[in-house]
Amino acid sequence: MKRYSAFAVAREALTGHKGWERAWRKAQPKKRYDVVIVGAGGHGLATAYYLGKRFGITNVAIIEKGWLGGGNTGRNTTIIRSNYLQDPSAAIYEKARSLYETLSQDLNYNVMFSPRGVMMLAQTEHEVRGYLRTVHANALQGVKTRFITPAEVKKIVPIIRLDGPRYPVLGALWQDRGGTARHDAVAWGYARACSAMGMDIIQKCEVTGVRQEAGRVTGVQTTKGDIACDKLGIVVAGHSGVVANMAGFRLPIECVALQALVSEPIKPVMDCVVMANTVHGYMSQSDKGEMVIGGGADQFNNYSQRGSFHHVEETVRALIETFPMLSRLKMLRWWGGIVDMTGDRSPILSKTPLEGCFINCGWGTGGFKAIPGSGWGFAELMAKGHSPLTEEFSMWRFREGKFIDESVAAGVAH
Ligand SMILES: Cc1cc2nc3c(=O)[nH]c(=O)nc-3n(C[C@H](O)[C@H](O)[C@H](O)COP(=O)(O)OP(=O)(O)OC[C@H]3O[C@@H](n4cnc5c(N)ncnc54)[C@H](O)[C@@H]3O)c2cc1C
Repeated sequence: MKRYSAFAVAREALTGHKGWERAWRKAQPKKRYDVVIVGAGGHGLATAYYLGKRFGITNVAIIEKGWLGGGNTGRNTTIIRSNYLQDPSAAIYEKARSLYETLSQDLNYNVMFSPRGVMMLAQTEHEVRGYLRTVHANALQGVKTRFITPAEVKKIVPIIRLDGPRYPVLGALWQDRGGTARHDAVAWGYARACSAMGMDIIQKCEVTGVRQEAGRVTGVQTTKGDIACDKLGIVVAGHSGVVANMAGFRLPIECVALQALVSEPIKPVMDCVVMANTVHGYMSQSDKGEMVIGGGADQFNNYSQRGSFHHVEETVRALIETFPMLSRLKMLRWWGGIVDMTGDRSPILSKTPLEGCFINCGWGTGGFKAIPGSGWGFAELMAKGHSPLTEEFSMWRFREGKFIDESVAAGVAH
């Protein structure tokens, strides 16, 4: 793989851009791999990347029914933060956030990580108490956050209205090294690095069955034929229940649509991410100038990757209370993704009842931020059979009652 560099850009500029290589090879499935990963979203690709980079396992296929990064990874609002409450969550999200800091250098691909700061508004006394508790928990976990006053909020975000009609701003939970990254670039950067290690990314190939013998996985059936493997990683987000069903087990997961929208582009007005969980809305400004806006998830189960008018209306109405200037903007486009929600709003990274088969799912509304940490830990779990990062996220915790309750930190927000 030719490295991207300022020198390469200059050389190609002078020679008519004829020397660029394809970012990843177009692969056809082989008969057998050591590891098959189902799902070429961020989590599947990151898992494959760290399997190769950390454990030297490169005889790997990543099988994707659509196009890589076309699931939730390419549909999210890209918020990155690690200010969770429980210790196992803080550990995996902070690992991910810290890997994001140098991911562009590591992948030799600009993922446009922008640690512009993430602000979670406290708009009720209950939220103030909750966020103060999170700040204390984060201090013990080594995650840098602090509680800021309304005056500091106004200084960082001058367009905010502090004394809204329903919910005044009473302060905020602030993480200054949280922010955003370019979602497509995260998927593309991992894909390019996986392909360079000799892994096969097989797109437009749907897994339709999981083959097993004597309680052990032996391969998958796909629309491009059967593929044998020693180990299988299921990393399919909104379709986790469907693929788990093929492998013969059930998951405590519900799938709902989650939506987002962007406004027409405007001049820079806000250089951090603001989340308003009481009124169900959050916002950042993209590099192109669009206001990127997201709200809550649908209250009914479905598999449709579409938006709906009532959500747009609810979300925008809520945000206009705190950001009156939004009322003057036109909406440019809106979309939906299918998110997989667990009861405690924490993910599942686990062995399964089928030997050799592992599952990574349940990231719900907030898994983009976790991609590098999840890939790091899940690759270790698949390679070695255990990982300190994934230990608490077993699928059996629901049977044992060992919930990792993040419903306040992750139930609505991202
Ligand atoms: C509107 C919206 C906003 C969001 N905002 C944020 C945010 O701001 N911050 C944040 O951290 N998170 C956010 N999220 C959540 C985040 O996008 C997801 O948690 C994350 O992208 C999940 O990544 P993944 O790799 O697990 O899944 P995906 O990217 O969905 O990848 C799974 C892949 O599996 C493939 N697949 C499914 N079934 C099969 C099969 N049978 N065979 C082969 N392939 C299959 C799919 O086609 C898909 O490409 C948001 C989500 C949405 C929808």
